[in-house]
Amino acid sequence: MKILVLALLWSSLLNLAVADFERPSTFVALSHWAPDIRLDMRYATERNFLGRVVAGYEAPECWLTKPAAIALQNAQRVLARDGLGLIVFDCYRPERAVADFVQWSLTGDIAQKQAYYPRTAKSELFAAGYIADRSSHSRGATVDVAIYAAAGQSRESEPIELEGLCRSERQRMREAGLLDFGSGYDCFDIVSHTGFEALDSEAIKNRQLLLQIMQNEGFVNYAKEWWHFTLEPEPYPGAYFDFPVSAMDAALNSK
Ligand SMILES: [Zn+2]
Repeated sequence: MKILVLALLWSSLLNLAVADFERPSTFVALSHWAPDIRLDMRYATERNFLGRVVAGYEAPECWLTKPAAIALQNAQRVLARDGLGLIVFDCYRPERAVADFVQWSLTGDIAQKQAYYPRTAKSELFAAGYIADRSSHSRGATVDVAIYAAAGQSRESEPIELEGLCRSERQRMREAGLLDFGSGYDCFDIVSHTGFEALDSEAIKNRQLLLQIMQNEGFVNYAKEWWHFTLEPEPYPGAYFDFPVSAMDAALNSK
């Protein structure tokens, strides 16, 4: 009897471990699901606050649970009527990537400080709420997102020199055709708090537009990051997945 119980326990533990590393069939690849949404998957590149590819990002794909992908697709349709569209920076994030953030925070590497956290001490990034040792991104219904203007719809025809915090990132985003949100993605500072008021009226208007569009589809914003939204209710409220971010497998992802 004891052996049977142990065997059952062992097999259920094994199942748990296996399930953790496998992508559930309820996840879809956004590049397939909503091809009009632009992907700029920062953690699969060197353009992020670590300055290198983050653990677990094997491909620049956006994986999300189907309800979150559908909600984003709906938001995209609404924006498209005005010649605008969504661009995502991060979607599902494996737990090993979050662990990589934690490991990085313990090192002395501050090469990306000026670009991403000029006024916040690296040791304070967790306490200040910009990085967490567990992330809602690992549950598949959280997305980091901004808005781009479709070709010919750009509101800024003249190149402009931006000033202020995290300038290089903000400048890059403008040059890529994104609306101005007053701070760059992953600028860990009070200027990125969604309700921060000392911004150009255009940036305030753009933050309100993004908030409204996302709220209308059921997303809730994180008050310290204008770009971070979670669909509620979440399909997997208690889960933290750890399968890698890989390229789309069309066979597993048919609509
Ligand atoms: Zn986020």
